Amino acid sequence: MTERHERHRGLFLHARDTARGDRIVDFLCIEGLLPLFLFGGPKSSLRSAATPFVSAEIETYRDRRSDFIKLSGVNILETYEGIQKSFSHMQAASGAAEFVLHTSAFGGEYGQALAMMTSLLRELAAIDEEHAGLALHAFLWKALVPLGLAPDTSACERCGRPFSEKGALPGKLLMGEHSLLCASCAEERKRLGFPASAMLWFDAEALRCLHAALQLSYGEAAQTMGASRASSSVKAVIESLAESAAEGPLQSLRLFH
Ligand SMILES: [Zn+2]
Repeated sequence: MTERHERHRGLFLHARDTARGDRIVDFLCIEGLLPLFLFGGPKSSLRSAATPFVSAEIETYRDRRSDFIKLSGVNILETYEGIQKSFSHMQAASGAAEFVLHTSAFGGEYGQALAMMTSLLRELAAIDEEHAGLALHAFLWKALVPLGLAPDTSACERCGRPFSEKGALPGKLLMGEHSLLCASCAEERKRLGFPASAMLWFDAEALRCLHAALQLSYGEAAQTMGASRASSSVKAVIESLAESAAEGPLQSLRLFH
């Protein structure tokens, strides 16, 4: 036996074409994040089905002499109309997919990544254009939990001082780092040469918003962030943490600015 047939249920996340004209699609399922080859020209019927943000049951076969997994059949299970509502909706879905791909599905948490992506795609239908970008921020913030990179929002990571203590705030997030610091620890880092321009500011309202978002749906979290006077601080903190987790810039976030 040199071939092995498999079936998977999951979500197409991303498609790209090779120089030879073959298409590779990234498929997220609980067994993994699979790069699948679609051989054949643009008229192939698989191509129209195997597009980003389609949930499907698929058939593949793996040629054991090479590392190729070939897509041989697609049965569409669900499509998501919410992504068609506006450019921002599509961008929110693309941003979430980009983050899943950059972090190898939250460091191998395939089931959780699939569940979170699917919820976001379903929820986008009920989210208005103004809040679609913030739904992506809510997704990125929640995704830090399975990655093990969600910062403590109750106390300074360095000295343990609770943020509720008088004088502990405003705190700072140092860009490129993962922890939230109290006012005095941030001041000390500044004295040691960390540039003040690469420090992001947060107050009690920003922390309340971040804490609340973890318990809410993407739509509700987006509303909460949008209505908060700390909105821009919350967004900046999440973007910095997400790009640190992804170990590089996220193109989809840039398009929202
Ligand atoms: Zn501290």
